[in-house]
Amino acid sequence: MRGVIARTWAAAAALLLLCEGSVVAAPVIVIDAGHGGSNLGAFAPALGRHEKGLALELALATAQALRRRLPAARVLLTRQRDEYLTLEQRVRLANRARAAAFVSLHFNASPTRSESGFECYVVSAEASDREAALMAAREHDAVSNAPGAGAAGGEVAAILHDLGQRAQRTDAWQLAQTLRHALARARPAAQDRGVRPASFDVLLGLRMPGVLVELGFLDHPLEGPELGRPTTRQALAEALASALATHLGGARLVSPTPRPAPTPRPAPTPRPAPTPLSPTSTPTPAQARHRPG
Ligand SMILES: [Zn+2]
Repeated sequence: MRGVIARTWAAAAALLLLCEGSVVAAPVIVIDAGHGGSNLGAFAPALGRHEKGLALELALATAQALRRRLPAARVLLTRQRDEYLTLEQRVRLANRARAAAFVSLHFNASPTRSESGFECYVVSAEASDREAALMAAREHDAVSNAPGAGAAGGEVAAILHDLGQRAQRTDAWQLAQTLRHALARARPAAQDRGVRPASFDVLLGLRMPGVLVELGFLDHPLEGPELGRPTTRQALAEALASALATHLGGARLVSPTPRPAPTPRPAPTPRPAPTPLSPTSTPTPAQARHRPG
């Protein structure tokens, strides 16, 4: 069953583009610059700047790189200026756009100012299951209360919803891994802190795979200044765009020109089953201090 589920959102989004060899729809990718307005985020002492500005600059550069790599895709930004947005507004924008992927960009800070490196967060299985249970219960009620509906209909809705949640979670995990490897290539000297489960609100309400990326620690004496350099920003933007393009099947999305009818596809190579995410997530000191917004 996992093999079926693992035919991911990305594959579905890519397939949407092809109908008898023609481009019929473009995937939507949402880039979210964390914080903004009165929500300053972490502080970079060496730069005299806050996270909100650095995240916005990176989001704009990433969108530009992504549009260049995937001309057929629609790239949306949750904000394009220094403004305050609630987490719900960010989620609503992505859900209404029926996005194929959502990436929230952040920079970190630690109480000791000694931590460094980048990490990716995806919704924890526990949080996702809790949300799925609530949703399934609501759908069950809706179906059971419909004229002529029985409990079986509700159970089917619940099972389908659960399958969808699992597929979304698996796809988010795979996107996070792709992002992580691209960031490691862009900054080989930086510490790769891996992919972690979390219950960040900005990821919880999403109806598509979402990843929150902490790109580095702004208050680290060496990493902070490095993250402020335009060359680093461009390298990070290219890495993020490259990972998203890879994840969404970029090779088939690059050209919007009509293609010949596709030949039957070989059976997909099974991807390795993702390592189960820990059901509980203990916030690191860095998380405890930096609250993504
Ligand atoms: Zn943040």
